Amino acid sequence: MTTSREEKHEFKAEVSALLRLVTNSLYTNREIFLRELVSNASDALDKARFQGLTDTKLRDRHEKPQIKVTADHGRGVLTIEDTGVGMTRDEIALNLGTIAHSGTLKFMEQARAQQESGQKPDVNLIGQFGVGFYSAFMVADRIDVTSLSAAEGAEPVHWSSTGDGTFSVGPGERTTRGTTIELHLKAEAKEFLDRWKIEGIIKRYSNYVVHPILLKVVDD
Ligand code: ADP
Ligand code: MG
Repeated sequence: MTTSREEKHEFKAEVSALLRLVTNSLYTNREIFLRELVSNASDALDKARFQGLTDTKLRDRHEKPQIKVTADHGRGVLTIEDTGVGMTRDEIALNLGTIAHSGTLKFMEQARAQQESGQKPDVNLIGQFGVGFYSAFMVADRIDVTSLSAAEGAEPVHWSSTGDGTFSVGPGERTTRGTTIELHLKAEAKEFLDRWKIEGIIKRYSNYVVHPILLKVVDD
């Protein structure tokens, strides 16, 4: 596979079904998207630390573990960035194109069962199970992910999707290992740029995270 080209991929059928549920419903607890993204960032930092213990060739072995959340009011973008293990091109297409997460699969089963019995799926299940990365499409109409894997020889990669059935993968720009997730917030989700709102959500759901979480607000 060449690494220099931009390629379009289709989400696996179950991801498309999940995204339709996530994007077309109203929920009371869509704020849990931040819990999911911070938890992914924290996992990526744990992996980097663990791999760095044995792999002396790991990229940026002495990089400071941290999660940075930036709210850019001018652009309407909320960014979650980590200095974790990152993803290669193949990993990003697999991890952000299929459903591996067992909680998500359970959610899908329940939602499907409810649909088959003629009920409307209860989207509050999303909060209960946590549908992982895809829950960010509750608040974003476009997501851009840029990542550089800690693996030797990896190149930076960019993933982008509007959650409508396809995603693209191509070369990205990043010089140190880790992952940047840019959420282009929906018009009705701009409240998630508010400093106090973000702080409240992080305190409520991500208190257990051992890595430092920095918050930056850029006003327009
Ligand atoms: P889960 O975290 O339960 O595996 P998610 O949907 O939250 O499910 O994430 C899917 C996968 O995408 C993760 O398992 C991980 O491999 C990858 N991933 C997501 N976010 C990051 C990140 N910030 N850094 C590295 N890998 C990530
Ligand atoms: Mg997760």
